[in-house]
Amino acid sequence: MKVLLLSAEVDPFAKTGGLADVAAALPRALRDLGHEVAVILPAYRRALAAGPEIRDTGAIVRAPIARRSVEGRILASALPPGDVPVYLIDRPSYFDRRGLYGEDGQDYPDNCERFVFFQRAALEAIRVLGLSPDVIHCNDWQTGLVPVYLEEVYRRQPGSPFRAVGTVMTIHNLAYQGAFWHLDLPLTGLDWSLFNPARLEAHGLLNFLKAGLVYADVLSTVSPTYAREIQTPEGGRGLDGLLRARRGRLHGIVNGIDPTAWNPAIDPHLAARYTVRTWPAGKQANKAQLQAEAGLDPRPELPLLAAIGRLDVQKGWDLIIEGAEALLSRNLQLVVLGTGDPRFERALDRLAAAHPGQLRAFLEFSQPRAHRIEAGADLFLMPSLYEPCGLNQLYSLAYGTVPLVRATGGLADTVVDATPEALRDGSATGFSFVEPSAEALIAAVDRALALWRCRDSWARLVDSGMRADWTWHRSARAYVELYDEAQRLRS
Ligand code: ADP
Repeated sequence: MKVLLLSAEVDPFAKTGGLADVAAALPRALRDLGHEVAVILPAYRRALAAGPEIRDTGAIVRAPIARRSVEGRILASALPPGDVPVYLIDRPSYFDRRGLYGEDGQDYPDNCERFVFFQRAALEAIRVLGLSPDVIHCNDWQTGLVPVYLEEVYRRQPGSPFRAVGTVMTIHNLAYQGAFWHLDLPLTGLDWSLFNPARLEAHGLLNFLKAGLVYADVLSTVSPTYAREIQTPEGGRGLDGLLRARRGRLHGIVNGIDPTAWNPAIDPHLAARYTVRTWPAGKQANKAQLQAEAGLDPRPELPLLAAIGRLDVQKGWDLIIEGAEALLSRNLQLVVLGTGDPRFERALDRLAAAHPGQLRAFLEFSQPRAHRIEAGADLFLMPSLYEPCGLNQLYSLAYGTVPLVRATGGLADTVVDATPEALRDGSATGFSFVEPSAEALIAAVDRALALWRCRDSWARLVDSGMRADWTWHRSARAYVELYDEAQRLRS
């Protein structure tokens, strides 16, 4: 099967979150299953600086924006280490900027135009490059208009090569919908008759993600529990009615771990590499290194807790910060890595200053440090208020760092709480709690601390987590079934 994946983020070219990891790992896993895959993303300044061996294909695309024809160049690269082709849509006036979507917490005011251009240019690139995909896999709002353009523009053209092309639209986070002022509609070139609540409009705004969810052949999101949650008024963010109406086409597939990027046996960032057989010594060495790097007291006997992620309300930082004094009154250490909301940055800075040697807050984006923290910590906190899938709990499992999560979305699907029964039958891999409060978080941490003192039980928990199979191959097979379904619907 020939699959074309469209994404606004692809690691290592451009990344703000889990979408970039998925858009890099899924194509490689599909390629390993024998499928032909290509990826398209915008040629941001950052992508050109970080991406490996980028060359100019010489191909030019012209995309209609309002009444203008806007030109872009197509650059080419490949996903390391393999041979999955990556195409970058280059238009410096849109993408040669410091950020992907904005700067200093402010979205770019022309995001609608930038991503209308990206989508139309990507479709033109398919034609110009002669890619002839069987399926186009769209991801998040930045690609939501692609199924609309296919249906309303491309498939209507005589002899269109897009007639039998199926579309899959994946929601990585329903909180980001790409909703714009209705007067941006002319930028899209689409007819005003489509601006209604059954098509492109949601609550008076032009909504890219909704448009994709209306028009795509098959829909998916990144865990079965999140797929259910977004069909409820509480989790549906205004689109639950649409998602309920299309539930027969909506699937939940948990993301996987890219074993070339997140594997403690080969991780180049670690002080010591380890496997499920050698983790006790391996983690001990990494913990000592992490304590030194973070300026924490060198005390191997204390449980070292960690949290990594965007400093956003979604990730439950309010719970951690509210509960911090109580947590730090226990015999434990805490290291935090994240950037984002200045409110959380200030609070974490204050706490760290008040607890030197016990708490360290790294307020930066650093992938190498994320790896060292995953390897050196004992317990990983992820008290998200909602979590479509979550990757860090999967990385934690693979690195023998026991995850402690709020039971929501993908966290509920991937972490098995250490209840007495689950401990007995060996299925337990972590700790989970339900109520979104600091008290509930602390109660779960106390359960973890109690188990930490029973070294054998803790070791079994680590073992079960490290043995759980969350690699991409399992998920890639599930995506292939979606692609089959999308193709069947078009044939
Ligand atoms: P989301 O996509 O909602 O941000 P995920 O858990 O799905 O959350 O993915 C987050 C990804 O971003 C992980 O790979 C995580 O390690 C990485 N990440 C987030 N914040 C940082 C940071 N400050 N430094 C390094 N990596 C980070």
